[in-house]
Amino acid sequence: VHPDDTLVHALRRVVWEAPERTFLAYFDGRLGYREVDELSDSVAGYLAGRGLRRGDRVAVLLQNSPHFVLAVLGAWKAGAIVVPVNPMYKAGEVAHVLRDGDVAALICSDRAWEAYLRETAAGSPVRVVLTACELDFQTDGDARVLGFERLPRAADADDLTEVARAGHPAPPERDLGPDDIALISYTSGTSGAPKGATNTHGNIMHNAERQRTGLELPEPPVYFALAPLFHITGMVCQLGACPNCAGTLVLAYRFEAGVVLDAFARHRPHYTVGPSTAFMALAAHPDVTPDHFASFEVLSSGGAPLPPALVEKFRAGFGPYIRNGYGLTECTAPCAAVPPGREAPVDPVSGTLAVGVPGPDTVVRIVDEQGADVPFGEQGEIVVRGPQVVPGYWRRPDAGAETFPDGELRTGDIGFMDPQGWLYVVDRKKDMINASGFKVWPREVEDVLYTHPAVREAAVVGVPDGYRGETVKAYVSLRPGAVADPGELAAYCEERLAAYKYPRQVEVLPDLPKTASGKILRRELRSRSRASQ
Ligand code: ATP
Repeated sequence: VHPDDTLVHALRRVVWEAPERTFLAYFDGRLGYREVDELSDSVAGYLAGRGLRRGDRVAVLLQNSPHFVLAVLGAWKAGAIVVPVNPMYKAGEVAHVLRDGDVAALICSDRAWEAYLRETAAGSPVRVVLTACELDFQTDGDARVLGFERLPRAADADDLTEVARAGHPAPPERDLGPDDIALISYTSGTSGAPKGATNTHGNIMHNAERQRTGLELPEPPVYFALAPLFHITGMVCQLGACPNCAGTLVLAYRFEAGVVLDAFARHRPHYTVGPSTAFMALAAHPDVTPDHFASFEVLSSGGAPLPPALVEKFRAGFGPYIRNGYGLTECTAPCAAVPPGREAPVDPVSGTLAVGVPGPDTVVRIVDEQGADVPFGEQGEIVVRGPQVVPGYWRRPDAGAETFPDGELRTGDIGFMDPQGWLYVVDRKKDMINASGFKVWPREVEDVLYTHPAVREAAVVGVPDGYRGETVKAYVSLRPGAVADPGELAAYCEERLAAYKYPRQVEVLPDLPKTASGKILRRELRSRSRASQ
């Protein structure tokens, strides 16, 4: 266990050791560790003054900006639980989270407040509102880069930057410990409406520490926040890991390939963690050069499948190796990763890249339908036991009992383990395609499509078929300037896959739909294919 119980304690340790060191870099703006500590104290003091009690919920709906960090640290210092909300959520989705989380305070962007949140919050338990202009804390006119202007101050909300600068003292008696709930992270999980996974401070600090140990980064390291901070991967592997090694965290609002490449050139980061789709988009950008990646020691991909072809393309084209890592919101981001200095093998039979090796204090088992362990190499459901597994879902003991029997997480992912301890994720149980009784795992077909030089992104789904029950359909987007027609792509797969696996239908789209955390949304493509039938 790391000596720091919570991220607030990690922050204070760095303030003690190196108060002037830059914690956050945002375009050309910088905030030091002491400054972030003082500004977030003031947010905490304000929240306490507005009547927030220990354990109350504070929803944070912001992009990767210093405001996000001040809001989260301020809420924790006030003894509250943070509910990170995806800024891409629509009004109905936010309303569900505010109601289900019984949220007392909302910290959001001024633009979202004006656009739809004022109305959404009106019928909710929210009684305190702080809005943020995410242009603050940088000075080089990035309104142009970010594509929006400053709005007039809202009359019905306080301003986060002003509150942070007001110098309110934090309530020190509200310090939290490792067993307290830090986050309620809404996730659709394996099924149903979004449920709140209750990540504790101990869960976060365990994985934040695990994430950094063994990485040989220069001192102090510069992290770049590629994954969104509201998502558990960004929260733990970037915001959580960075103060643990007294590093600098570079923020660039939200993922926009050109802006990210500029930030790489300006800040020369050593490390980042993001979904594989972000690496695909960076590699396909017209301005990208190997120099953009020259400062990186290593890159990590997490939260979504990593096609082996992308790892090779990246190494050959830009240099750094992409380490795979596997996790879920319910296990506070990673539970298995490629150990530093090692490289993930590719399974010779399926062509799948290993996701990593379970952490030293984590037990991953592969089980059959009855819950019994299966032998090495055999497929089954992945179940996880370890210090990063959450205690349950917020106010959903029924769903908790199903997903966490005896405290062990049933992931809903199908995978296998090799005798050397490498874990492989085949696919999600619910995404399996049943073509005339043959099981087809979309990932295997997608991995083949990714080896085609014209393909940028690929997603495979099952579509209803009168004869086979279901048949395989592929959606792809192409690399800039590349041409490939659907028939050619289907034939390419037919040459490389068994007859029941290759896609009978291929559709080329300009872009594939993605979640805000960068995952390709197979369920949206499935509905699209059904609607067009
Ligand atoms: P949402 O919360 O937006 O509904 P979600 O259900 O995908 O999304 P997460 O907890 O972010 O929620 O995703 C976890 C899932 O992502 C895993 O169950 C697994 O299917 C997939 N995944 C994560 N890492 C990897 C990896 N390295 N390789 C393959 N799949 C992965």
